[in-house]
Amino acid sequence: MSDNQAAASEAVQAFFKRATGSFINGDFRAEGNSRDIIDPSSGEPLATIAEGNKELTDEAVALTKASFDDRRWRDLSPAARERTLLRFADLVEQHGEELAQIETLNQGKSIHIARAVDVGFSVDFIRYMAGWTTKLEGSTREVSIGMPEGTRFNAYTLRQPLGVVAAIVPWNFPMMIALWKVVPALAAGCSVVLKPASETPLSVLRLAEIAVEAGLPKGVFNVVLGSGSVVGTRLAEHPDVQKVTFTGSTAIGKQIGHAAVEHMAHFSLELGGKNPMLVLEDADLEKAVNGALMGGLLNQGQVCAAASRFYVHRSLHDEFCQRLAGAVDGMQAGPGMDPQAQVTPLVSQRQQQSVLAYVERARDQGAEVHVGAEVPSQGYYVSPVVISNAAHTMEIAREEVFGPVLTVIPFDDVEEALAMVNDSELGLAASLWTDSLAQAMHLTPRIEAGTVWVNTHVTLDASLPFGGFKMSGLGKEFGPEAVNAYTELKSVCIAY
Ligand code: NAP
Ligand code: MG
Repeated sequence: MSDNQAAASEAVQAFFKRATGSFINGDFRAEGNSRDIIDPSSGEPLATIAEGNKELTDEAVALTKASFDDRRWRDLSPAARERTLLRFADLVEQHGEELAQIETLNQGKSIHIARAVDVGFSVDFIRYMAGWTTKLEGSTREVSIGMPEGTRFNAYTLRQPLGVVAAIVPWNFPMMIALWKVVPALAAGCSVVLKPASETPLSVLRLAEIAVEAGLPKGVFNVVLGSGSVVGTRLAEHPDVQKVTFTGSTAIGKQIGHAAVEHMAHFSLELGGKNPMLVLEDADLEKAVNGALMGGLLNQGQVCAAASRFYVHRSLHDEFCQRLAGAVDGMQAGPGMDPQAQVTPLVSQRQQQSVLAYVERARDQGAEVHVGAEVPSQGYYVSPVVISNAAHTMEIAREEVFGPVLTVIPFDDVEEALAMVNDSELGLAASLWTDSLAQAMHLTPRIEAGTVWVNTHVTLDASLPFGGFKMSGLGKEFGPEAVNAYTELKSVCIAY
C-alpha cells in the first residue's frame, strides 16, 4: 500500500474491500472478470471489482425497468421524493470526507478539489434538484376545437417521467457528473442505471449504497460496471431504455446518438470542448492570469469546460505568459492526498501518454513550450505546460487535450480574435476578459458556445443550464431544463 492509500480513513479502506462489483437492487455483484482499480499516484491497485457483461447489463436494465413499472418511486408523492433526495444530500454531506478520499485515491485529484467540488458542489446540486420534485408542471391550453358543434373542451399538458434512464459517464469527475444525471432523473420520477468509466467506478458505488440508506427504494438506482464497448453499447441500444444521457468524447457520443435513435430513445450528449479564453487589451491582467490558472489547470485540465486556448491581446501576451510560467514553476507536485500538492497525477497512464504526446507534437511543430515544476517519475503525472506565441492553426490550439496545457495565441484585432474563437468544431464554453461593459455586451452574443463567462471561467451553478453548441453536444444539464429533459410531455384533451 502506498503512502497515499495509507492516508485514507478506515471507512474508505473497508469500502474498498466491500465494493466487489456492480450494485444492482441493493447488492454488490462479484461474479465476472475481475479488474484492478488503480491509484494513479502509484500505479498500485486500490480495489478489485468484477466487470459486468451483456447479460448483467440486461439484468440491470430489467430490474431498473421493474422498479419503474411497479411505480415504487415515481408514485411516491412529490414531497416524499423530495424528502428522500434531501436525505440523500445530507448523507453525501455527512460522508463527504469519505467520498472525497475515494475520489482522490481513484481519480488522482487533489483532496481539496474533491472536497470543494466533487463533494461540495454535488451536495448543493442534489439539494437544488430535490426542490424541482415538487415543482414540475404542465399548463392549460385554450383550444379552439369547433366540433362536434356544441361540445366544449378542456386541454392541458402533463409532465411524466420518461422511464428507464441509462447514464454513461467519464472519469474526470466520476461522482459529480454521475449525479448531474442521476439526480434530475430521479427528481422527475425515472429509474436509473449508471455505467461509470472503467478506470473510476468506486465513488459511484459508494453513492449507490448511500442512496439506499437515504430511503431510495432498491432497484431505482443501479450501477453496472464494465467496458464501454460491451456494457455501454448494450445500454445505448437496449429497447427498454427510454433515455441515454452521456458525457465523454464526441466520437462515442455520436455512436450513442445513433444507437438511441434506432429505438427512439431520447438522448443527451455532453462532449467536451476546446474552450477559448479571450483576453482583450483593457482586461485586468492579474485577474485574467488567475482566471487562466483556475480555468485551465483545475483538476489538471481534465475538465470538459477547461480553458485551453488563450487569445491574448499582443500588448499583454508576453507578460501574461511570463506570469503563467512563473506560477507553474512554483507549483508543488504530489499525490492528491497530500494537502500541499498542487500538481497531482492524471487519471491513467493512457491519459498521461496522450497529453505528453500532444506536447511533443506541438514542440515538433515549433511551439514555444515551457514546462513547469518537476514531477515524480512514478505515477501518471504531467507537469503543467505553458505554450506561448502559438499559432491558431496548430494541433495543440485546435484539439481537446484534456490535460494541464495552456496554449497562448497573440492577436492584434478583436474581430480577428473573435473569428479564431469561433473557428472550432466545438462550442462548450468560453470566457471573455475585459473591463468594457460595451465590449462584453457586444461580444457575448457572438461567441459560439453554450456558456459564455465574462471575467470568470469554469464557474458552474446548478441553476444555470450547461451544455454545448456545435460538436460539443446536444441538450442541457442543470436548471429546470435538466429535470424537464427526463420527462415526456403528454397532452390531454377532454370533451364535455
Ligand atoms: P469516452 O471513451 O467517450 O468514455 C466516456 C464513457 O463512455 C466511459 O464510461 C466509457 O467507458 C464509455 N464508452 C466508451 N465506449 C463506449 C461505447 N462504444 N458505447 C457506450 N459507451 C462507451 O471518453 P474517455 O475515454 O474517458 O476520454 C477520451 C476523451 O474524451 C478525453 O481525452 C476527452 O477529450 C474527452 N472527455 C470529455 C469529457 C467531458 O466531460 N465532456 C470527460 C472525459 C473525457 P470505458 O471507460 O469503459 O471506456
Ligand atoms: Mg474510452
